[in-house]
Amino acid sequence: MMKVLLATNNAHKADEIRNALDLPDWEFVTLREAGVASDPVEDADSFLGNARIKAQAAHEASGGMAVLADDSGLEVDALGGAPGVRSARFAGEDADDAANNELLLRELAEVSGDQRTARFVCTLVFIGEDGAEVCATGSVEGRIGHEAHGAGGFGYDPLFFPDRFGGDISFAEVPQEEKSAISHRGCALCELKKSLEEVYNLLMQ
Ligand code: IMP
Repeated sequence: MMKVLLATNNAHKADEIRNALDLPDWEFVTLREAGVASDPVEDADSFLGNARIKAQAAHEASGGMAVLADDSGLEVDALGGAPGVRSARFAGEDADDAANNELLLRELAEVSGDQRTARFVCTLVFIGEDGAEVCATGSVEGRIGHEAHGAGGFGYDPLFFPDRFGGDISFAEVPQEEKSAISHRGCALCELKKSLEEVYNLLMQ
């Protein structure tokens, strides 16, 4: 049994990772479940950089466990890629989802429909017990709506209308499984699973 430390305390993310990776004989535990304290400053200017900071900090804090960290965010073309790595604190250090969404709508108030293109990006960094790193990135293209739709999901989901849903259904209007099937995190997890199976010679499920 391989125990992998998830460099997060977000139960929602932990469930999504467990469901997506579903590797035989691999067990995924959160920082809290493992009794490991790790909360590094995420000050890199890329998703990969921040995921690596989280993975390395948890790897060291746990005394060398295998770890998996992710970093994700929203890139809006009309805003030059913002909020990007600052997605969680777009409207300020303690901003909540509502404040971030409100600011996004305000910043795009003068931007017309076909200029409101955006993507969610997720980068995963796995560090094995031997220190070897495996990375994967996924993204999903869409547009930012003019108003929030739906009550599901989290973060910018109510404002994000993925192209693959036809452009008129937001991420907050579909069940989690439908979102995961095309989402940035879902795609990154699928890539990572393939790489881990190759690197660790796991049996295909
Ligand atoms: P982190 O990866 O936990 O640092 O998340 C960064 C921020 O990006 C979140 O707080 C959300 O604002 C945004 N974000 C990342 N993934 C999603 C998603 O699937 N839906 C909506 N917002 C997301």
